Amino acid sequence: MAAGEAVNPGRPETAADVAEPWGQDDLRRRVGAAIAAGRLPQSLLLHGPEGVGKRPLALWIARALQCGAQQSGEPPRNGEGGPCGTCRSCRMAARLEHPDIHLHFPMPRPKGTTSRAKLREAIEAQRHERLALLRDDLHARLDPDAVTGLYVAAVENIRGQASRRPSMARKAVFVVEDADRMVPQSASPEAANAFLKLLEEPPDFAWIVLTSSRPEALLPTIRSRSVPLRVAPVATDSVAAYLTDQLGAPPDRALAVARRADGAVYRARRLMRTTESEDSDTSETAADQLLAAALDGSPAARYRTASRYSARGARGNLGPALEDLRVRLRDLLCVAVDAASQAHDADRVQRLTRGGAVTDRAVLHALGSVERALEGVGRNMNPQATIALLLQEMGAAFAGRRPGTHH
Ligand SMILES: [Zn+2]
Repeated sequence: MAAGEAVNPGRPETAADVAEPWGQDDLRRRVGAAIAAGRLPQSLLLHGPEGVGKRPLALWIARALQCGAQQSGEPPRNGEGGPCGTCRSCRMAARLEHPDIHLHFPMPRPKGTTSRAKLREAIEAQRHERLALLRDDLHARLDPDAVTGLYVAAVENIRGQASRRPSMARKAVFVVEDADRMVPQSASPEAANAFLKLLEEPPDFAWIVLTSSRPEALLPTIRSRSVPLRVAPVATDSVAAYLTDQLGAPPDRALAVARRADGAVYRARRLMRTTESEDSDTSETAADQLLAAALDGSPAARYRTASRYSARGARGNLGPALEDLRVRLRDLLCVAVDAASQAHDADRVQRLTRGGAVTDRAVLHALGSVERALEGVGRNMNPQATIALLLQEMGAAFAGRRPGTHH
C-alpha cells in the first residue's frame, strides 16, 4: 500500500489479514483454547487436502504461541487464545520475520555442492529466497514443477535451530510443510534419529507443527510421534464468500470457481487468478482427455494421450490436470450412485462416458490411482510414465478388472 493511502476497514488488505486462515473457526477455537490453557501438544500434524489452508493455519498457531498478549498472561482476546494481531511479536510474525518462527518446506536439491556444510548453507539460502516470495504472497505454491524433498541437510538445519534457545521469545515454533516429503534417510540415520527424537521429546521451548496433504505417505515413525489435527475442506458457500470478500470476485464467478475447488479455499484462490488465463482451460481440457482415454479402453488411446506428456523434466500442467481429473471422478462417483445433483458438473462427465454406466467401485479404484499419480508428480517419476501407468490402471478399473500393479 502506498504511504498515505486510506485503509478501507470493510476490505481487509494487509498481509496480516490475508494471512488469517479462512473457514477454520472450529479448529481455531479448539487450538486457541488449548494454547490459552497451556495444553497444546508440542508435536502436531495438520493434515488435509492441498490448498485447504494448512500453511495459514500453521502460521496462525505459531503466532498464537508467540503472541505477547498470551505470554504476558493477559486474558486472551475473546477468550479464544488466538494471536492478538497487534503486539510486536504478531506484527513480526505476520511479515514472516519473527526470529523464533522457523518455516521449512520441501525444495529442490541444490546442485554442484558436495560437502555437508555447503549443502546446509545452500539449502538455507534457498529457504530464504522462498521466504521472500511468501512475504509477497503467502499462498504461493513453491516449486510446483520441480522435484523437491526435505533432504538430510534441511533436517540437519531444523535440528540445529532447535538445539539453540529462542533468540527473542520464550518459545520457538518450527513449521515443517509437506512432512511426507521427508526423504528416508538411510544415508544419514543419525539425522533421521535426531529429528525423531526432536518430535518425540521437543525441548521445553519448542513446538513443531508438521503439515501434510498425504498423511498416508508419512514415514510411520513420524506419524506415530505427532498429534494429528484434521484441516477439513471448507463449505462451498464459504469458499465463494472468500473469493467475493477477499478477492472482489463477482458472485457468479466466485460460485463457479468455488465448486471446482472442492472445499480447498486457497486452491480456489489460485484458480480464480488463472481462470481467465490459458492455464486453467488447459488443465480442465487435459483432465477431460485423460478421463476420455481411460474410458475409451483401447491401448492406442492411452498411448496417444500419454505421449502428449514429456518423458523427462518439465511437469508443466500435470499437477493441476490431475487435480481437475479428481474433480471429474468425484462427479462420476456422484452420477454412479444416483446423486447427480451433488456433482459440480454432471453433464460434463455424462458426455464423457457417453451415458454408459460406470460403477462406483471402478471410480473409487480410479481415484486411488489419481492419488498415487499426484504423489508421483513431485517425486522422480517422469510425467509420461506417470500418465501411462495412471491410464492403464484407470482403464483396467473401468473395464471391470482389478488394477494389478498396486496393492
Ligand atoms: Zn500478539
